[in-house]
Order: sequence, then structure tokens, then C-alpha cells
Amino acid sequence: MQPVLSVENLKVIFNTYAGKVQAVNDVSFSLGKGEVLGIVGESGCGKSVTTSAIMGLIPSPPGQIPSGRIMFEGKDLIKMSEKELRSIRGNDISMIFQDPMTSLNPVLTVGLQLSETFMLHQGLSKKQALEKAVDMLRLVGIPAPESRVLQYPHQMSGGMRQRVMIAMALACNPKILIADEPTTALDVTIQAQIIDLMKNLNQQLATSIILITHDLGVVASICHRVMVMYAGKAVEMAPLKELYAKPQHPYTWSLLRSVPRLDMKKGSLESIAGQPPDLLSPPPGCTFMPRCRVAMEICKQPPELATVEEGHTCRCWLVDENSPYAPATLFKEC
Ligand code: SF4
Ligand code: MG
Repeated sequence: MQPVLSVENLKVIFNTYAGKVQAVNDVSFSLGKGEVLGIVGESGCGKSVTTSAIMGLIPSPPGQIPSGRIMFEGKDLIKMSEKELRSIRGNDISMIFQDPMTSLNPVLTVGLQLSETFMLHQGLSKKQALEKAVDMLRLVGIPAPESRVLQYPHQMSGGMRQRVMIAMALACNPKILIADEPTTALDVTIQAQIIDLMKNLNQQLATSIILITHDLGVVASICHRVMVMYAGKAVEMAPLKELYAKPQHPYTWSLLRSVPRLDMKKGSLESIAGQPPDLLSPPPGCTFMPRCRVAMEICKQPPELATVEEGHTCRCWLVDENSPYAPATLFKEC
């Protein structure tokens, strides 16, 4: 698959009064054309910071990108000027955020907010832009779009507002859509509708999508490939089916066990014990060690990202060639 985006050895730090926070630490991945990549992990693991870096939205100071490249159409987004980035944001790469209420302007009708995008980026007249806004609302499944364009955000339900956000993000037919926990603030039925909508858009328009979530259930319903992040690092990456069938990293096991399934034995649903490490002073070895049930002596040294199979990588001593264990068997046993 031809990548539309590739992130190489990205590091993001935040300089705070308490010291340097290593929010993203040497993360690399690519996104194929028409691919849906899921980035999963608990809050504070670096998912949102990674995508903010792609959007050029890391506030500096306190943020800093000491190394790494983010290649899009042959150019490094990190090296671009704010002006160049502005022409890419919204046009080529757009983003939908978790909370539609804070991202929409409460004092403008949704029609006006949408049509502004068309006037600004596509040079349409006011009338043409409003017609296009109606079309976009129809595309994202909003009923009676002709009257909805005249409404203000507070007159809509949460699910409806999230659809408006998606319509805005899609307004310029972006090559990449980044969705940061797009369904977290919504109830389950609406969640499913929004995910279906994103799936249709991916299939019909071949939009590449990066979906950030902590919910492996959501990931299973839409993603082609998954990257699991922990404490600012990618700890496992694999095609969806492979990750579910042969998870290698103990953190991935915990994530999988915390998703309810119909075939689960009573009592086997888990929460993940312990807390993610303080990124001001992460543990010197494997950052998951304090919470890992199968930690070994060697885990006091940091594990490197290793290839398990083509397309499947994992950062854990269990997959090392000298490891005494087979991770897939351990997952079933412990
Ligand atoms: Fe657990 Fe060791 Fe693997 Fe870290 S490297 S996840 S401590 S087994
Ligand atoms: Mg986040």
C-alpha cells in the first residue's frame, strides 16, 4: 500500500517547571491510501500529541519536536511554515475532535460555519457555499438538511453536532482524516452510527483515516491496522486480525481483556491494574514493567521494537529470540 503519510522517529517533549515530559518518544508509522489506522492506549499515552504534531498544533513553547520527520507528499510537515501548514490543514489533512460543542462556534448557524469553509478554501459564492453545506449535511446523514443549516449548534443533539463536525472536516475532501476519540462523548447507538458513517466515507471516498481511541471495540469495527501506544512509545503494531488473534505485548493483552465480548466467561473482564508511569521520569527499563504480570529480570533494560512477523512489530523482551516464553501461549495462560 502506497503511504500517504509517514511518521519517522517522532519525538515530542514538553518543557514544564517540573522538568521535561517525554510525551512522544521515537514513534514511527505509516498510513496507506484508503487505510484506517487505529491508535489505541490509555489517556496520556501520547496518541493525541502524535496527531497534534501531524496537524502542526504542538504549542511551542512549552512543546518541542527535537527529532523526527512527518512526511506528506514528499515534504516534511515539521519543517513547514505556519502559512504552508495552514493550506494543508483542512484541505489535505483535517481533524475531528472529541467534543463537538467546544469545536463549533455557538453563535453562528451550522450552515454559516460550513459555508465559510467552502468560501475560504474553494472560493465559492455565498449562495453556492450554502447549497454545498446542505449537500454535506445530507452526506453525513442529517435529515432535513435544508432546515438544519439554519440552526445553531445548541439546537442539535450531540450525535447531530458530531455529524456536523465530520461534515466540516470532510468539506474539502481531505486525503487524511484524523478523528480523536470522535465517539467518546456520545451514547452507544449514536457511536455506532458515527463509526458506520466514517466507514462509508472511507469506502466511498477512499479517505485515509487515523482513529484515536481507547476503545478496542471501536477499533475492531473499522480499523485495518492498529498501533498500541504506551507511555509515549509504540509498543505493538499489527493488522487488525493479527493483533486480535496473536497479541504479543502484555499491555495489548490487558487492553483486549478490558473489552466486553459475548463469548467471555463471567468474571473474565479486567481493568488494568496500576497507573501509567509519570512521563517526567519514566522507569529506566520497560515502561510497562511496574504493571506487567510476566516481567523478567531483563525487563530492567528497555526493549527495542522488534519484528514478530511481516507487518507485526512489538516492543517487549518476550518476543526477543532468547525469550524463554512464547507470548501467544502466555496470553492464553495468564
Ligand atoms: Fe512485561 Fe518485560 Fe514485556 Fe515489559 S518487556 S511488557 S516488563 S515482559
Ligand atoms: Mg487524547
